[in-house]
Amino acid sequence: MLPASACRIQDLDANGGAAIGREALSEPRRGWTRAEAQALYDLPFPDLIFQAQGIHRRNFDPNRVETASLLSIKTGGCPEDCGYCSQSAKYDTGVKATKLMDHDAVVATAQRARDAGAERFCMAAAWRNPKDKDLDKVCDMVSAVKGLGMETCVTLGMLTSAQAKRLHDAGLDFYNHNVDTSPEFYGNIITTRTMQDRIDTLAHAREAGLKVCCGGIIGMGEQVDDRLGMLALLANLPEHPESVPINMWSEVKGVPVSGSAERPDPIALVRMIAVARIMMPRSVVRLSAGRQYMTDELQALCFVAGANSIFIGDVLLTTKNPQTERDADLLERLGINSALDEARPDGLGHAARMTPARGAAAS
Ligand code: SF4
Repeated sequence: MLPASACRIQDLDANGGAAIGREALSEPRRGWTRAEAQALYDLPFPDLIFQAQGIHRRNFDPNRVETASLLSIKTGGCPEDCGYCSQSAKYDTGVKATKLMDHDAVVATAQRARDAGAERFCMAAAWRNPKDKDLDKVCDMVSAVKGLGMETCVTLGMLTSAQAKRLHDAGLDFYNHNVDTSPEFYGNIITTRTMQDRIDTLAHAREAGLKVCCGGIIGMGEQVDDRLGMLALLANLPEHPESVPINMWSEVKGVPVSGSAERPDPIALVRMIAVARIMMPRSVVRLSAGRQYMTDELQALCFVAGANSIFIGDVLLTTKNPQTERDADLLERLGINSALDEARPDGLGHAARMTPARGAAAS
């Protein structure tokens, strides 16, 4: 259980520095208010980044980014009405519904992703909730992917406690279930399941011993206050999610959000990443969907602000993602280590070049 209040924003000095207990700022805490989140968000940009980077350094290798790969194992035809999603059966988006993928095809894709430098393999199915016969198949996939030496994550919609337990027993590491947005804005986006349904599924995953991947989406027409409300919701869960994906909405024609969406100001995105890093100091913050819209410079700023995970691969479910070569090139130029670097066929990635050969004489 996290301490209810290890530090308060009032403890920050006039320059945004921690007036007391710098170490306390590294401790996960709950009881965050939206006003505290707003106070952080409103700090002068250099002070905010300084805070976030300091906390990042105390909890993670600041020069490493985690790599994950995401595969849609069952696409489209979803009965939910998430207003941003190309896979909802309620909207005419041109996405064709498919059946659950074949086991061997999923495992082969995971193996290719691993060989290309993915540490975690995430499998997504467009369901309201899995049927037990489908869950049997997903459990087999999880066990096989785990056997490849990868971390495993699935996102299958709402789960019962018993289903969460079965996934855990199959070797699943993470369950992804996003809160998507603030409680206030939620009803503008989804009506077929409640925020409480989501919180219940997260609780079932936790009770089963699974780690939680939970974040949301920006750029759907929400206000900054909604984004901060979402971060406060995440930071006040009984335990902080181990992974916090921050998605920028990827344009999809034919969904309700396309009428009100506005791409966030890049600086606003960096501020949000920094606030997430400060509020959830030990969570991995993933710069998720929407990177195809981001310049290299914006992504670099996000990494400095505390983002330390990306999805690699050309496609994220049904939308585009930067190509793996572009990611490898960017991380190389930034001197950031990742499994992408280590997967280079010539073995001469950044990490290898920066590490002196064993036995090399110091001069
Ligand atoms: S986000 Fe998930 S639950 Fe919502 S419509 Fe898309 S596939 Fe279905």
